[in-house]
Amino acid sequence: MDLARKLEILADAAKYDASCASSGTEMRDSSDGKGLGSTAPGMGICHSYAPDGRCISLLKILLTNACNYDCLYCVNRASSNVARARFTIDEVVKLTLDFYRRNYIEGLFLSSGIIRSADYTMEQVVSVARKLREEHHFRGYIHLKTIPEADDALIAEAGRYADRLSINIEMPLETSLAKFAPEKDQRAIRRTMGRLRLKLDEAEDADKTATGAKPPRFAPAGQSTQMIVGADGASDGTILATSANLYGAYRLKRVYYSAFSPIPDASRALPLQPPPLVREHRLYQADWLMRFYGFAAQEIVDEAEGMLPLDIDPKLAWALRHRERFPLDVNRASREELLRVPGFGTRTVDRILSTRRFGTIRFADLSRLHVIRNKALPFIVLSDYRPSPALLDSTGLAARFKPKARQLGFGF
Ligand code: SF4
Repeated sequence: MDLARKLEILADAAKYDASCASSGTEMRDSSDGKGLGSTAPGMGICHSYAPDGRCISLLKILLTNACNYDCLYCVNRASSNVARARFTIDEVVKLTLDFYRRNYIEGLFLSSGIIRSADYTMEQVVSVARKLREEHHFRGYIHLKTIPEADDALIAEAGRYADRLSINIEMPLETSLAKFAPEKDQRAIRRTMGRLRLKLDEAEDADKTATGAKPPRFAPAGQSTQMIVGADGASDGTILATSANLYGAYRLKRVYYSAFSPIPDASRALPLQPPPLVREHRLYQADWLMRFYGFAAQEIVDEAEGMLPLDIDPKLAWALRHRERFPLDVNRASREELLRVPGFGTRTVDRILSTRRFGTIRFADLSRLHVIRNKALPFIVLSDYRPSPALLDSTGLAARFKPKARQLGFGF
């Protein structure tokens, strides 16, 4: 099989992994002989965010889509009737270097189906990173998927070469993982996350206390995971509680949510329809609230409902359920309180706090402070503005926020 066909198969097979989220890009190619570089479909190039917040392009591929495991939700499972391919280590190294030199990519995201054993697969994945770093002095970004059952020495070596390591938790509930991925064990996954956390802490401590030579690095961009949404019956409340537990226990950089997408010849245990894509989006917004806005998982989701509303964002939904806390005096409220106002982002709150040191905030200041006015106004008091009590009590307040069209973006 030629390299282009392998790339087509193994880039397509990797697209279900959201822990390096793909996004649309302008289609360019140079097949007409003019220019250099291509973003043609199937090239396996995705976009991800570097630790410093920069958007970077990554070559996102599997080493092989042949897999011994039979996870029901996965198109690459052993019983799936798909074309299989496998790169050699040298082929992945060559592709990465070629793409890097041509400025198609700034790094590599490498995962793999399980071949022979966890250790054998992990050794293959690590070999790619080792060759890139040690033989070719590759300085680009490397994200490696970690196999939970792999030997500790291999995981330690992976961390030496990779910027980021990830292990997919896959399902929000241990019982769902046992049902859908019988060869996987959530306790082993969590154990490995714990091992990674220890190694990350050791590396951070060694870095802080180093006086001479730089200590060995270990995945400086930390660890992340992915959860599939909508394959089992787990509610948003359960999903967010699992995420909160993962952030707390292992200090993960990110939990990625991937809406289940139905696959050919799927098991009857799986739903026929994918969940609405907006559900994934609301979970990302809720996740953002936990990480940057001081919300606890259990207060984001209405306990009785168990699910995030799809038509309004979770922060607005929370404010509508807690109208007794509003309106809030923008000139007096604490940072924690301000972060809960719909239409106030973290930077807006920082701007408000620094503006308050020099004077009073008035209605005319809202634009300069980047407040989303139509969301915030029913919930705030300014020195020259107060919403009418009827507005906040109005049963029509929720209806006022229902979107006219599909709502996107992280505008809280
Ligand atoms: S281990 Fe499971 S999820 Fe991973 S490639 Fe194999 S079948 Fe798919």
